[in-house]
Amino acid sequence: MNFNIEIPHSIDELVLTLNKFKNKNYRIGAGCTDLLMELKNNSASNLTIINISQVDDFNFNNVKLSNGNVDIGANTTAFKICENENILENYKTLHEAALNLASAQIRQVATIGGNICTASPSGDLICALMALKAQLYIKNSLGENREISILDFYKGVRKTDLKHGEFLSHLSLNSNNKNAFKTKSGFIKIGTRKSMECSVVSLAYHIQIDKKGNIIETGLAFGASAPIVKYATRACDFLIGKKIDSLSKTEIDTFAKLVVEYASPIDDIRATAWYRKQVLFNISKSILEKNIEK
Ligand SMILES: Cc1cc2nc3c(=O)[nH]c(=O)nc-3n(C[C@H](O)[C@H](O)[C@H](O)COP(=O)(O)OP(=O)(O)OC[C@H]3O[C@@H](n4cnc5c(N)ncnc54)[C@H](O)[C@@H]3O)c2cc1C
Repeated sequence: MNFNIEIPHSIDELVLTLNKFKNKNYRIGAGCTDLLMELKNNSASNLTIINISQVDDFNFNNVKLSNGNVDIGANTTAFKICENENILENYKTLHEAALNLASAQIRQVATIGGNICTASPSGDLICALMALKAQLYIKNSLGENREISILDFYKGVRKTDLKHGEFLSHLSLNSNNKNAFKTKSGFIKIGTRKSMECSVVSLAYHIQIDKKGNIIETGLAFGASAPIVKYATRACDFLIGKKIDSLSKTEIDTFAKLVVEYASPIDDIRATAWYRKQVLFNISKSILEKNIEK
C-alpha cells in the first residue's frame, strides 16, 4: 500500500481539504477498519487518504439530544453508541446492532459514518438505522449541506448517493411517535459463529404500540440477503392498525412472507440462498411471537 495522508483537525479544515483534492484521487478514512481491507489489494497510484479521525468537533464525534431528536455525528464510534443511555432507552435496535458489531477492539474505532458509507449488504448499523428511518446530513467541499433519508441512500452493491467531494456529517433519529406507549425494538444477527463475523442474515425492527395495544408505527430492515440492506415496506404496512397481542398465526406467517419477498440472496461461502430465506422467515416470525419488552 502506498498513499499520502492528509489529517484535517476541524470540519472547516476537512471542507478545505476536500476542495483541494476535489479533482484528485482521494479516499476518506475514519476508523479505517473497512478502508484498509479494501486498499490492501488496490494498487491505485497517487492516492491520498483524508484521515478524518482527528477532526475535533463535538457534533461530529458524539451522540446528542437536539429538539427531542437524537443526532449522531458521523465519526461516533460503535463503542460510544453502545454506551449511550438515550439510545439504549429509546432506540434499542441500534444499541443491539452496535453491540453485535465485530469485537470490542474494533468497536472502539469503527464509526457509524464508516458503516453507512461503506454500504455493505450486511452492515449491522445500516440495518438498524433503516428500521429507524434515519435522516442523513451531507456536506460538500464548498461547505453546502443537503439531507437524504437512509431509505433512499443506497443505489446498488456498495454504491451510495454520496458524490465525489461530499462527506456524511451526521444523522438524525426522530421516528418515535408521540402517541407510542410501548416500543418493541431489537436486532437479530445470525452468523456462522458468535464474534468477528459478518451476518448470514440480520434483522432490525422498531415497532411502536399505543395504549390500547394497536401497532401505530413499524420499521423493519434486514441485511445479508440482497445486494443492499433492504427495508420491507409492505411487511411494515401490513402490521399498522393490528393489535400486537392478538395477532393470529396466519397473520404472523403473512407478515414473515412479506418480509422474505424483499430478499434476493445468493449462495456463498457462509450460506445458501435457500437457507438465508428460511432463516429470514423464521426470525421475522419470532419478533411477533415474543412478548413486548418495554
Ligand atoms: C474483523 C472485522 C469485523 C467486522 N465485523 C463487522 C460486523 O460485525 N458488522 C458490521 O456491520 N461491520 C463489520 N465490519 C466492518 C467495519 O468494521 C464497519 O463497517 C465499520 O463501522 C466501518 O467504520 P470505519 O470508521 O472503520 O470506516 P472506514 O473503514 O474508515 O471507512 C469505510 C468507508 O466509508 C467511507 N467513509 C467513512 N466515513 C465517512 C464519512 N464521514 N463521510 C463519507 N465517507 C465516509 C470511507 O471512505 C470508506 O469508503 C468488520 C470489519 C472487520 C475488519
